[in-house]
Amino acid sequence: MTAPAQPGPLFEYAPAPESRSIVDVRPSYGLFVDGEFVDGSGESMKTVNPATEEVLSEVAVGTEADVDRAVRAARRAFTRVWGPMRPADRGKYLFRIARILQERAREFAVLESLDNGKPIRESRDVDVPLAAAHFFYHAGWADKLAHAGLGPDPRPHGVAGQVIPWNFPLLMLAWKVAPALATGNTVVLKPAETTPLTALLFAEVCRQADLPPGVVNVVTGAGDTGRAVVEHDDVDKVAFTGSTEVGRSIARAVAGTRKVLTLELGGKAANIVFDDAPIDQAVEGIVRGIFFNQGHVCCAGSRLLVQESVHDEVIASLQRRIGTLRVGDPLDKNTDIGAINSAEQLARIRELSDVGEAEGAHRWQPACDLPDRGFWFPPTVFTGVSPAHRIARDEVFGPVLSVMTFRTPDEAVAKANNTTYGLSAGIWTEKGSRILAIADRLRAGVVWANTFNQFDPTSPFGGYKQSGYGREGGRHGLAAYLKGASH
Ligand code: NAD
Repeated sequence: MTAPAQPGPLFEYAPAPESRSIVDVRPSYGLFVDGEFVDGSGESMKTVNPATEEVLSEVAVGTEADVDRAVRAARRAFTRVWGPMRPADRGKYLFRIARILQERAREFAVLESLDNGKPIRESRDVDVPLAAAHFFYHAGWADKLAHAGLGPDPRPHGVAGQVIPWNFPLLMLAWKVAPALATGNTVVLKPAETTPLTALLFAEVCRQADLPPGVVNVVTGAGDTGRAVVEHDDVDKVAFTGSTEVGRSIARAVAGTRKVLTLELGGKAANIVFDDAPIDQAVEGIVRGIFFNQGHVCCAGSRLLVQESVHDEVIASLQRRIGTLRVGDPLDKNTDIGAINSAEQLARIRELSDVGEAEGAHRWQPACDLPDRGFWFPPTVFTGVSPAHRIARDEVFGPVLSVMTFRTPDEAVAKANNTTYGLSAGIWTEKGSRILAIADRLRAGVVWANTFNQFDPTSPFGGYKQSGYGREGGRHGLAAYLKGASH
């Protein structure tokens, strides 16, 4: 049942939309190969603004022949230019890219919000600054790899084939491209089919930075294009971020080849609130954990575990806070929750939410007006969830929180670890000793304490179990792009 349990927002805001005049979206785009925009040899596909369903542009669907052309360009660039280049000079290119990202930050933020549907506050304050930070951080490593503690003579693999999802299009590009280039590899990148535009703008940045042709190639398209990249014989290193299902098929395709593979897959993080936690802060962390980026976050705190004695207080406070969230125009600077990225993703969120109710959990949504056009889903809280429910097990990848309770720390740990995933977790408590004791026992790659969804290029990120293997960021992330590196 959908109960309008809250009055509307506490404040009325005048709309404050960011102007989109700063972006110049072309009616169509080709592929970025060998430093040039070239026509693809196959069909094209439309990319739409999920907040309005307006077609933004047509982009090429890369064929096997296009991918082959891109891989050849990347191989030539690796052998002739990028591989032999002095590491300090490679670093200068990365610094240059980082600075251009900062200079063109507003353009990138507006374009990301248009193509992805995320609020401009997030693209402006999180995605773009963090993408630039990844290039700055890795630029610094380029000539210091011998001192990274990764072995005496770390060497690049060669050509990296990289496939990324739609939830953080520019940021995932930065997570992949920056370490690959800093370690001397060249790149063929396949952005997600629903969000290709910032990768194509990034290709322009590569030209602006005078990056040698072929060092970065961008081949747009859907799953078949991605498959052609990861299965190409002359790709040495495969890096994938996306669903566990596709990750599994890539692991099978790469098994038995000489390719090196890292996988960043799904998650179903537990956000654990103990009874001694400062409730107001915890509520902010719960909101940030599940509603940031519409919940399209692999490490989202989608399973809230609350100590039984504070359950009612936490839920009442959480519902009050959710009642103040503004859902709507992603370009409006007041917006907290933007559009769902695609009709397919919206259908999945709806289906899993309906299953949650059918299985007996109680659905709560605030009173909130959704725009008529576009793809929207209100912030949603399920209480009375049991660990066997699908909304407690499956990754919804949307603004849907499942709440469960626990009585003892042991029960909290057991419930938190009762998942096939192992990407992240959160702990809310006043006691430092408890944080350390619990964090040690959680099978999750990242554990946040009294905060959630904090990212930094210096800090390795990655999962256990079906959340994948390999790390991105920090020294560990460099190791993934270097032959024989140990850490
Ligand atoms: P997806 O796996 O469907 O697609 C990801 C990318 O893979 C897209 O570019 C897609 O075109 C491509 N692709 C699809 N089939 C392919 C194939 N057979 N071979 C090669 N490439 C293929 O995932 P999605 O729906 O775009 O993204 C959502 C998923 O990504 C969620 O499960 C989420 O948890 C995960 N994710 C994980 C992280 C992380 O760091 N662990 C980060 C972001 C997203």
